Amino acid sequence: AIEIDNIDKFYGDFHVLKGVSLTVAAGEKVVVCGPSGSGKSTLIRCINRLEDHQAGRIVVNGVELGDDLRNLDAVRRDAGMVFQHFNLFPHLTVLENCVLPQILSRRTPRAEAEAAAETFLKRVRILDQAPKFPGQLSGGQKQRVAIARALCMRPRIMLFDEPTSALDPEMIREVLDVMVELADDGMTMVVVTHEMGFARKVADRVVYMEAGGIVETAAPDQFFDAPEDERTRRFLSSIR
Ligand code: ATP
Ligand code: MG
Repeated sequence: AIEIDNIDKFYGDFHVLKGVSLTVAAGEKVVVCGPSGSGKSTLIRCINRLEDHQAGRIVVNGVELGDDLRNLDAVRRDAGMVFQHFNLFPHLTVLENCVLPQILSRRTPRAEAEAAAETFLKRVRILDQAPKFPGQLSGGQKQRVAIARALCMRPRIMLFDEPTSALDPEMIREVLDVMVELADDGMTMVVVTHEMGFARKVADRVVYMEAGGIVETAAPDQFFDAPEDERTRRFLSSIR
């Protein structure tokens, strides 16, 4: 579970997150949307402390995010992250992209790490690409490798930051399908996306952010069919 309680975050003088609170229960799927610059990436990057916050509390699976580095390791293992631009290691094969983080960060023995990598590459239907390098893959394939790599760390939470925004339309489906399967398996998920079809199908709640604050949170039916806030309505009509 994730508890975000009234956090403030600044980039220098710029107040980017303003008193944001959000709770995500174990197994829950939350989709975050909102215009460019509203703070969506910053918010989910705070959940595994790729960014720090300056006030308020964030507790991830019972561990408070603060200056204690032991907590940081625990939280990073527990909360996997998938980025818009994949962030694979270009000089490592697909298999090694999945194997090496396990060895470095979990001290998993190589044979066991390779077995896990094969399991998760198979789960995202890309085991046949294991010997290739990221540069030899399509965008959709790269993103599925990134998901497999994250799953190899056995996270209880998966954070996705616009995982399909850099993909050609014909590749979006294959990535969303993998994410839907993950959701069906019961993974706790926070997904920043403008794929509203995915939100309707998978989300328990949809969060709308604007200017560093959460404007509205609602179940998908309510969110899309009867949004309460004028700003949410304006956003939805701008993307439809
Ligand atoms: P997008 O939809 O474009 O990805 P976003 O909602 O994810 O936008 P953020 O990336 O969280 O928005 O950025 C929120 C605000 O913080 C923006 O005004 C951005 O310019 C600013 N910002 C983001 N990262 C930094 C940084 N490292 N230093 C200073 N300002 C930043
Ligand atoms: Mg962003």
